[in-house]
Amino acid sequence: MKEFDIIFHFFTKHTIKRHDVLLGIGDDAAIVAPPHDQQLAITTDTLVSGVHFKENIPAYDIGYKSLAVNLSDLAAMGATPAWLTLAITLPSADKYWLHDFANGFFDLSYEHQTQLIGGDVTRGPLSITIQAIGFIPNTLAIKRSGARPGDLIYVTSTLGDAAAALAFTNEKITIPSHHLDFLLSRLMRPTPRINIGEKLRGIATSAIDISDGLAADLSHILEMSQVGARIKVDQIPLSTALRESINQDQALSFALSGGDDYELCFTVPQNKKEQVPEHCTCIGEITAATDLDLRYSDNTIYQLDNKGYQHFS
Ligand code: ADP
Ligand code: MG
Repeated sequence: MKEFDIIFHFFTKHTIKRHDVLLGIGDDAAIVAPPHDQQLAITTDTLVSGVHFKENIPAYDIGYKSLAVNLSDLAAMGATPAWLTLAITLPSADKYWLHDFANGFFDLSYEHQTQLIGGDVTRGPLSITIQAIGFIPNTLAIKRSGARPGDLIYVTSTLGDAAAALAFTNEKITIPSHHLDFLLSRLMRPTPRINIGEKLRGIATSAIDISDGLAADLSHILEMSQVGARIKVDQIPLSTALRESINQDQALSFALSGGDDYELCFTVPQNKKEQVPEHCTCIGEITAATDLDLRYSDNTIYQLDNKGYQHFS
């Protein structure tokens, strides 16, 4: 297949058409009409074969996840996704692989009514770069820098599931077969928390999506806001599947230091806690210190083993 055929058959044909896209795929650049009363949030993330996923991962999951991690960044800003670009580097034009990849990509793209408006196709080791652009009503973007002492700290859904699934695929732990599908889906097809991010506008003082483990990502909020945090580790939400698969300490270690959850961590002033959306759990409080204080409910200190994944360390 030639480059043009790949673009047409797998990418142009399947995308939805939004009214704010004046010119989509096919020209030298796309032309879009941003809403006049909103700001644009723009993010990009690359997934590289062998670094972010194993070579033999199903193409559907690669398509789904490479979009999910980008939408997750928009969710963490409180943005509503609108437009996407996709730059893909392929070792060969395998149409079965491309078909599955596009299905995964467009299933999630459709769910959020986003339009693919451009991209690039090149030959080389498999790598996927997506750019996602979303809208936020003026001044309502949720940054990492707004946490204040006394704010409550929340996370969405449950943590540690993806890290457990990754440990399983690396043959480091075993998981009971009836919990396997759930945990693997948490790794392969993370849910970008767009709806919750939108609801947090005007409520959360700061937010981040958890890609490198709660401890590492919360630390970014602490640094940018110049505050500290006290976390009650036994309040960190763990799924039934995780709790029934491994012991509590291992589960906590995955939640705090494992990656790939793509849940949100955010802070809310005490007087707005009634407005926090469903499926969010309070795990602690922002302090005037500058450190991250992790404790069990009996007040003993929790020792962190490592602080998450770093690409160049
Ligand atoms: P150019 O050489 O001018 O960059 P290309 O042949 O790379 O043009 O791309 C032609 C059109 O197809 C452009 O509109 C580009 O944005 C779009 N496009 C290329 N690759 C992709 C892709 N993977 N997904 C979506 N659109 C793509
Ligand atoms: Mg090009």
